[in-house]
Amino acid sequence: MAVPVGHGIKEKGTAKPASNTQRASEDRYRAKIAYDYVRWGTHCVDCYPGSCPYYVFVKDGRIVWEEVAGRVPSRSPGEPDPNPMGCQKGAAWSSQLYGPDRILYPMRRVGPRGSGKFERISWDEALNAIADAIIDAHQEQGPESVVREGTPEMAAVQAADRFVGLIGGVITDLNGSINDFAPGHHLVFGKFYPIPGNLFDAELTIIWHSNPAYTVIPFFHYLVESRYRGSEVVLVSPDVSPTHSHVDFHIPVEVGTDPALALAMCQVIVSEGLYDERFVATQTDLSLLVVCDKDGVPRYLRQSDMYKDGSDEVFYHLRSEDGELVEASRSNLLVDYRPALDGEIKVRTLDGPVVATPLFSVLSRRLEQYTPEATRSITGVHPDVVRMLARKAATKRTRILMGMGANKAYHSDLYQRTMNLLLALGGNWGKKGTGINCWAASQLDGALLMGMKTRVGQMGVEELLRALDAAEEALRSEDPTRSDELVAIEFWRRMARTGRMVPPAFFWYWHCGYRDRWNRPEWNDPAMKRAFDDYFKEALESGWWEGLARPRPEIQPRVLIECGGNILRRTRGGRRILLENLWPKLRMIVTVDFRMSATARHSDILLPAAQHYEKTGYHIPILSLVFSDKSVEPAGEAKPEWEIFSELCKALGRRARARGIDSFELPNGGVMRYDELWNRFTLDGHLTTQDRVIDEVIRDSAYAGTLPAGSDIETARRQGYIPFTGWGRMAMAKGQASPHPAEGEFVPFRFHVERGDPYPTLTRRAQFLIEHPFFVEAGEELPVHKQPPKVGGDYPLRMTTGHNRWSIHSMNMANHWLLQTHRGEPFAWVSPHDAEKRGVRDHDYIRIFNDIGSFVVRARLSPAQRPGLVTVYNGWDPLMFPGWEGPNEVEAGMVKYLGFAGGYGHLVYAPLEWQPVPTDRPMFVDFERAEVAG
Ligand code: SF4
Repeated sequence: MAVPVGHGIKEKGTAKPASNTQRASEDRYRAKIAYDYVRWGTHCVDCYPGSCPYYVFVKDGRIVWEEVAGRVPSRSPGEPDPNPMGCQKGAAWSSQLYGPDRILYPMRRVGPRGSGKFERISWDEALNAIADAIIDAHQEQGPESVVREGTPEMAAVQAADRFVGLIGGVITDLNGSINDFAPGHHLVFGKFYPIPGNLFDAELTIIWHSNPAYTVIPFFHYLVESRYRGSEVVLVSPDVSPTHSHVDFHIPVEVGTDPALALAMCQVIVSEGLYDERFVATQTDLSLLVVCDKDGVPRYLRQSDMYKDGSDEVFYHLRSEDGELVEASRSNLLVDYRPALDGEIKVRTLDGPVVATPLFSVLSRRLEQYTPEATRSITGVHPDVVRMLARKAATKRTRILMGMGANKAYHSDLYQRTMNLLLALGGNWGKKGTGINCWAASQLDGALLMGMKTRVGQMGVEELLRALDAAEEALRSEDPTRSDELVAIEFWRRMARTGRMVPPAFFWYWHCGYRDRWNRPEWNDPAMKRAFDDYFKEALESGWWEGLARPRPEIQPRVLIECGGNILRRTRGGRRILLENLWPKLRMIVTVDFRMSATARHSDILLPAAQHYEKTGYHIPILSLVFSDKSVEPAGEAKPEWEIFSELCKALGRRARARGIDSFELPNGGVMRYDELWNRFTLDGHLTTQDRVIDEVIRDSAYAGTLPAGSDIETARRQGYIPFTGWGRMAMAKGQASPHPAEGEFVPFRFHVERGDPYPTLTRRAQFLIEHPFFVEAGEELPVHKQPPKVGGDYPLRMTTGHNRWSIHSMNMANHWLLQTHRGEPFAWVSPHDAEKRGVRDHDYIRIFNDIGSFVVRARLSPAQRPGLVTVYNGWDPLMFPGWEGPNEVEAGMVKYLGFAGGYGHLVYAPLEWQPVPTDRPMFVDFERAEVAG
């Protein structure tokens, strides 16, 4: 069904015949925009928040153009509507369907891996070869030897994850690979995923580690509109980024010193008494009583300290009104007394008398080392500027617009812990125009339910919902102080132990060659008291990652399934380390993609996937389901991923039968018959097409109550998008802790602030003290500043990166329209000062190098770049560089060892959440002029 007439466009747009007086160019233009029909479209990949509805115009079976629909209503009264919504990638999306890098047919490698030599084969030949390799892997090493790299491409998640789960394989956690996990948010809030709320109502927006002029194009107008109504906008960034010209203040901080800047502001707020006492006392752990050891390290006073059978999870306040010790509620934070933020009390514990004091007073003393004067030599920011900004942040409705880059530094956890401390002191979350963000996929309960149910239709959902209700009820009875949110989050954490998704860190360590790198002390935090392996071993032996450290070291990975990703471009640490360590172990590398990526080039079998406009789908769900219809038939022999993996299930049954093999043992001890796989994948032959799957997901979501009753794929086809009606059950949705936008204004964490709902942390408060022994040993039990370690070696320049303007990851980089909007090839921003010292002129090739590796790239000289810094935006495919080696060749891919900590309150893995994550900035490098032949 086409987009209905009445949406401001005609069902059919035709070229009028030319009159004698019309010029030929006008006729040509009319012919160019003529179309046969129009469909809804969007771009169902990890473009966040994205979700832009588009019209897609088709003529003679080809997409001729696309246009922003501009029909999304305002979310709250008084807030401008979000339209037009769109960006240059969206406007040029369709040209990729017809690009020269398109994979059109199944192909088999005929030259050495990476040679680029392939031959066209039939679908049956390709699927049989893959099925045989999987059966061989099962026989030789067991199902865990089949690995899929997790990716955020929606169609891939739906199909490939389901397939790999059924065959007992390992799926690496996509948030571990792409590292859009904010460890510091998790440490403080027990969840990392506040959805970007309202930018419009902030009185002060601090853009931190972000360049929204490049990366938040559809929503950038809110910043401009908020300034129009009087808000101030501040940019904290080392370079003069393109966002710079749209702000009131630019704070050019030294690279990697953001925690020192945040702590200096906190010091000003505390020393000048500007903090919001009630907010700090009720929302955070800073009012909880602690006892300091002989080294001054604080530890919470617990009930178990005072009573033999006391709980480890009951903590205490000092009541200001009468100086009495009071048990801090675990179920409601809005207590009817004033928890003190300073003072002390003598307490009799089982080990004798101690003096307890509120954590705030310990923190205040620690902050004294971060005065604006003391931090000036670290951050390069003048004390007057720090004071000005601190006073504004404490007294205005302040919002931090945090970029995903803040997740990708070695000390990202400290970046976020200190940013959140700054917000806490000003009482700046859970209220209109305040807060901080990361990302979440929420509310599409149907996608989760469809992945779990065993029979199609409503009956299947009902069975599952009953089982989920019972499980949630059990969690509630186990601990009656748990709110609905805490029940949902606890359920998600427990599910992780039985799930198919695992943190990728163990895979990298055991199978991809990272062990040596991670053990180099000079590339780690110099404060580390032990070797990396000591922490790694302790984490494993303590059972913190029980069932999650897979594939185990004794299992050799044999089959790698890449679908919707590009592991050789994306992996921090480089293409080379994977080619040298992982590739030789693999008997079969399969890439399912629509285009020839670096990983495809190094694969054994290529399967052509349908592009987004060639299949039905939806964008990452956030507040609305934005639908993308099938506008045209897939090019060549391409198919939607669902159909590819469904066919692969059949091929496994076929090949197993031919080889006289019935079944294989699953990692959990169960047995799966090969000839049952297709039935299980398709729910007994019901879900055989992409349309059926999308319809089922929408129906199940409606049944679960997150979409309007009766919604189905035809509703989506008519409307283009369907606003969600409720949060549903998913932890990421419930964790917004806010009324659903359908019921009121959306601001994450309102329930914590307005109702006193507890946070999913050990102390049930926003938690700034982490007593885990790893953190104490690191001197990071409280937020501190640490200089970034010299990862890459002792080199004079620091290389950093960021999201480029022209692509979502690497997938639009070869789009010929977008190539024309810049120099058409990768480049590194370098300062003229550094270039001159090395005899480099603009557009020269330079070789950027360090102890890890090197790559060659064009130099782009710009005074916007500070001396000492090199920026290479990410997303360029290695194929676009001379020698096919890109910037990840100089990245070590270090993980901060504290990410392995577990067994402490909320330091527990759940899919997409707490885990060790790789880092890529800053890298220490140098560069020199390079000659490139040809
Ligand atoms: S690529 Fe993302 S931001 Fe651009 S139009 Fe598509 S959904 Fe919107």
